[in-house]
Amino acid sequence: MGMKYGDPDNPLLVSSRSGARESMPGMMETVLNVGLCSATIPGLVKKSGSERFVYDAYRRLITMYSDVVMEKAEDVEPAEGRGIRQQLEKLLDAVKESKGYSEDTDLTAADLKPLCEAYKAKVKEILGREFPDDAMDQLRGSISAVFKSWNGKRAVSYRRIESIPDGWGTAVNVQSMVFGNMGDTSATGVAFSRNPATGENNFYGEWLINAQGEDVVAGIRTPSPLNEETKNEQNEHLKSLQKEWPELYKELVDIRDNLEQHFTDMQDIEFTIQDSKLYMLQCRSGKRTGTAALNMAMDMLAEGLIDEETAVMRVQPEQLDELLHPIVDPEAEKKAEPIVSGLPAGPGGAFGEIVFTSDDAVAAERDDRKCILVREETNPEDVEGMRAAEGILTARGGMTSHAALVARGWGKCCIVGADALKIDAAAKTLSVGGQTFKAGDVLTLNGTKGKVYAGQMQMMDATENPRFQEFMKLADKRRTMGVRTNADTPEDAKIAREFGAEGIGLLRTEHMFYGAGAEQALFVLRKMIHADNDEERNKAIDELEPFVKRDIKATLEAMDGLPVTVRLLDPPLHEFVPQAKAAQEELAKALGVSVEEIKKRGANLHEVNPMMGHRGVRLGITYPYLTEMQIRAILEGASELKKDGKDPHPEVMVPVTCTVKELDFVKPIFDRVKAEVEKQSGVQVGCLYGTMIEIPRAALCADKMAVTAEFFSFGTNDLTQMGFGFSRDDIGGFLNDYLDKGILESDPFQTIDQEGIGQLIQISVERGRSTRKDLKIGICGEQGGDPASVDFCFKIGLNYVSCSPYRIPIARLAAAQAALKAKK
Ligand code: PEP
Ligand code: MG
Repeated sequence: MGMKYGDPDNPLLVSSRSGARESMPGMMETVLNVGLCSATIPGLVKKSGSERFVYDAYRRLITMYSDVVMEKAEDVEPAEGRGIRQQLEKLLDAVKESKGYSEDTDLTAADLKPLCEAYKAKVKEILGREFPDDAMDQLRGSISAVFKSWNGKRAVSYRRIESIPDGWGTAVNVQSMVFGNMGDTSATGVAFSRNPATGENNFYGEWLINAQGEDVVAGIRTPSPLNEETKNEQNEHLKSLQKEWPELYKELVDIRDNLEQHFTDMQDIEFTIQDSKLYMLQCRSGKRTGTAALNMAMDMLAEGLIDEETAVMRVQPEQLDELLHPIVDPEAEKKAEPIVSGLPAGPGGAFGEIVFTSDDAVAAERDDRKCILVREETNPEDVEGMRAAEGILTARGGMTSHAALVARGWGKCCIVGADALKIDAAAKTLSVGGQTFKAGDVLTLNGTKGKVYAGQMQMMDATENPRFQEFMKLADKRRTMGVRTNADTPEDAKIAREFGAEGIGLLRTEHMFYGAGAEQALFVLRKMIHADNDEERNKAIDELEPFVKRDIKATLEAMDGLPVTVRLLDPPLHEFVPQAKAAQEELAKALGVSVEEIKKRGANLHEVNPMMGHRGVRLGITYPYLTEMQIRAILEGASELKKDGKDPHPEVMVPVTCTVKELDFVKPIFDRVKAEVEKQSGVQVGCLYGTMIEIPRAALCADKMAVTAEFFSFGTNDLTQMGFGFSRDDIGGFLNDYLDKGILESDPFQTIDQEGIGQLIQISVERGRSTRKDLKIGICGEQGGDPASVDFCFKIGLNYVSCSPYRIPIARLAAAQAALKAKK
């Protein structure tokens, strides 16, 4: 620049800016105009010929430096609204008010000079130290403060959300200053080489005459549009750069084209015009919405800017979520404060009036009123209400709690574990942070972020982008690992097929006892679990068979031609014990016993730790007839379909096993029933026999398990629960503390803990395949739809992942990207 830092006659000023590996816009600090002090001010006044400009730059330096270097970097935590920046801004406002100015640009040199002195006095008063008057002190101070801002609150939370590792750290760029605040031939602006919200290929940006960068982003003045094409309601009266300075605009457009060609991606650009000369300050790949990411990838492919593989890598799998669910309008959300946060269990947005019971939710739906079901926690009796509600909010529960599983399966917006909520179900009120809401008040949920807002917020329609299918085709071309779905009903199976599922990886048989149309089957199941002798029980089991067969057959039919892994019953028995008086009476009548007796039998089913209780295969070992009935129902259903010319592919999966002896106990029943069904029907039914690996012992003994099991499916919900010793239903109570205090990097029920639980998985894969080379292995825990977990599953050689229907496109894309990364 032909200038020298700290030189009294020809002083160079610099800025200290952050530079992390990945763009973290606005999350770290910047200090501008560094180097202005008593020694350099006169020289700069002389050189620039403008006292006003120099003192405007100086008051900005004092503000930024005291805020970033002297307050934030020193961990000074002022009371709300009492930060040094706000205190200085008050002084500025007072001058503006006394002079009757409306804009900062109205201030003259005569106003600014004493203002800077007042600023420095205020800094001394509030922070107890002088604002440094030495160029080198300023430089050192600003560099270390920018480094420190890597650990600022905003940056830390942003990294958590974006899964950026804390260990990366940041660079600091020291850059020579150019000035957009040098008068009416100077300006500054921020632009995107394409529209970051829609992806449209138009140059999109904002600029301000006689200003520095922070003025554009801080919203003090309404910035002007860059060009005519992108004017909107707020700025249509303002002059575009294109009209004001057409030559500079053209130069900027050429640079934009050049940068896009060079980086082959949309760029986020910062520029300054100093005395009619254009300078570029920085560019980086710009942040974008899911819709924009998809549109840009497909456009750039068509333009020949990128190839197919790059296009596939350009959309983050999670971004597809946005295209599949209605969402809360991000602009509206920016302006609102959440009343409480919880775990983001079911994505998308929803608003509606608060209801506190399942019945009220159903009633609201009948009256065509949108509602949010608010519960302490949910149980199977709430399922109708969950279906009827637009969204679900619970105070307890983790990402794999019942409410979360069900909601995700339905693509329903859901927030669980919002433990700051105080729910008084009797009074039908909920309180949080000093506010109380009653039934009928409206809430908005952002289930993608886990944020709850008071009142109704604007929603955006997730319009199905026609390019989505085209994009997914490109991804599937690169994908080698299978993607199946967790689905329990023919309806879910159909949705999943539309999203591209290549089979069912987990059909939870017990889910057929939840929800609409399940009353009869649930009643028979209750009879079975309340029986107190084999005769009563076996009778109930026989009665249950037609229901099981009907439902499984319908799902096999919906998945015709594709594999369906049917898991034998794994019900938490206590969840099915009727609580309502009428239901207890009906059951008593059917079993010919008293209501008291029913209550007693229900109470006997109580377990101190039901998650490790009488469930899964244990139930089938105590009651082999139950196992036999289920296997028969599955195989008969399949053989009937075969006779009708269909192509069913059932697989029987045994849950919650810990030793091969359990598999060996069930296998002869499987073989016998299979032979019987085949003989009776005269049809051969192909059917694999396998197990879930969801108990650490089973994982370690995988070589033995594989002697009998023809396939494994990792139940990473239980494997994580038992591997960590964290209850999947209660983790909400302490998870946030673990995340905030850096003890956990992420929720292991959402994304596989590769370091620990991952070892158990890897060991099972190796040992399982050492026994059976062609052992088919998948995953059906909730993490199966999480991109990082999908990547891990690919790396360790799983054959497929299985996830809820609405996450299938995400898993497909994540699997394609995993394959591409491996190829690289
Ligand atoms: C699991 O444990 O990961 C699993 C899929 O089974 P469930 O969630 O039904 O316990
Ligand atoms: Mg399980």
